[in-house]
Amino acid sequence: MKINLKELPQGRKEISVNLSGGEIGIKEHEKEFDLIGDVAAHILLLKSRTTVNVEIEIDYRVRLQCSRCLELFEKTYHEKESFVFREGEEKLRKEKSLSEEDIYTYFYATEEVDLSPLIRDMIILSIPMKPLCKKDCKGLCPVCGANWNKETCEHMGNLKPVTKLSKLLEFKNKLPG
Ligand SMILES: [Zn+2]
Ligand SMILES: [Zn+2]
Repeated sequence: MKINLKELPQGRKEISVNLSGGEIGIKEHEKEFDLIGDVAAHILLLKSRTTVNVEIEIDYRVRLQCSRCLELFEKTYHEKESFVFREGEEKLRKEKSLSEEDIYTYFYATEEVDLSPLIRDMIILSIPMKPLCKKDCKGLCPVCGANWNKETCEHMGNLKPVTKLSKLLEFKNKLPG
């Protein structure tokens, strides 16, 4: 997804494009997720004399694995991020805009900038570290492995499912005082 910023006329330009995972450097099977289909990107470019404001909106669907019950599930995401490109040689700099929101400022020395890595990062950052198939996922029985969302087992009620949080609480309860 390369855009020639030098040739871009001043003013506003909108681009809507469907990008495959391959085009933005997302593998068919990423470690944490699988991208399903294309990424629908809507890009708004606003060029002034020395800067180009780039607003990227993306819609995409991914397959994730629940961190509690280990079932695969699908989720649709919508992400939006703004970037500023400024003529010059400097490297990436994060600066505060008037609205105090973080704006990513990039400096471009070459005519063409590649938006693909930005879109890729937006997707990677949107994926939670511990995905849940649903907020109240009951998880797996630590003894027999039964999926408590779907079935019951004899251990239910006596035991808590294995999760990071319950381990932490167990530990806290053991602390003196
Ligand atoms: Zn789950
Ligand atoms: Zn069980």
